[in-house]
Amino acid sequence: MPKTALITGASRGIGRSIAAALYREGYSLIVTCKQSYDRLEQLRDELLSLNRTDQTITLRLCDCSNPGMVEELFGEIPSVDVLVNNAGISMTGLLHEMSVDDWNTMISTNLSGVFYHCKYCIPLMLRKHAGHIINISSVWGAAGASMEVAYSASKGGVNTLTRALARELAPSHIQVNAIACGLIDTDMNRHLTTEETASLIEQIPADRIGTPEDIARAVLMLLHAPSYLTGQIITVDGAWT
Ligand code: NDP
Repeated sequence: MPKTALITGASRGIGRSIAAALYREGYSLIVTCKQSYDRLEQLRDELLSLNRTDQTITLRLCDCSNPGMVEELFGEIPSVDVLVNNAGISMTGLLHEMSVDDWNTMISTNLSGVFYHCKYCIPLMLRKHAGHIINISSVWGAAGASMEVAYSASKGGVNTLTRALARELAPSHIQVNAIACGLIDTDMNRHLTTEETASLIEQIPADRIGTPEDIARAVLMLLHAPSYLTGQIITVDGAWT
């Protein structure tokens, strides 16, 4: 029977690429997003054309910042082998001009969402004495970015959660790692002008913007890594930071 991977924020960008890569790797999928159900359907239709009869694809709308919705999601899931906490948002602006509501939305989506999914997924993995949790973080989680202070704080929290949880779960053979992404070509960066993107690329030794597929390949790499590789924040940024 195929293993099951749950990927949050799979309607677009990095999450979509990770979901497609895991399906091609033989996993059954549970894919979620906040509102773009039609995009989840497009992803499912694309993957079903591969004719993998033994693998299933389950689509769900689930706001990762809503603990009730996450609990309900896991209420109908019997087993998860791989959890990819990918859903996330970004906001730019000066911290002192940020509203309290925006701060709370940032932290509840990018950090609490990871907690909610781990909270309900870990018992399923403990039963099997196996599993992978992969959190999609950012280089700003370590370095911190001007004009993205709340975002940086949320990802710094994800990094520390990753390291601490890895220690908690290593005795149970559950690996917990994060991928700290650099600049990746997704909707999240559509607000950048062509000039701004070009000037950022000038700072990246790899001389290009990263692709969602780069991150999907890093996820596959972690799934194939030795079990001793846990508690790590793997940076995928073209040597930018
Ligand atoms: P996109 O904006 O392209 O996609 C975001 C995804 O997250 C969508 O599927 C969206 O669903 C989902 N999402 C947003 N809010 C929620 C929510 N409350 N509940 C459930 N799903 C939600 O972003 P990326 O693909 O670029 O980002 C994916 C991850 O990678 C994020 O964690 C981001 O912080 C991280 N990252 C991205 C970088 C980049 O340069 N792109 C750099 C560093 C890290 P819907 O379509 O329904 O809105």
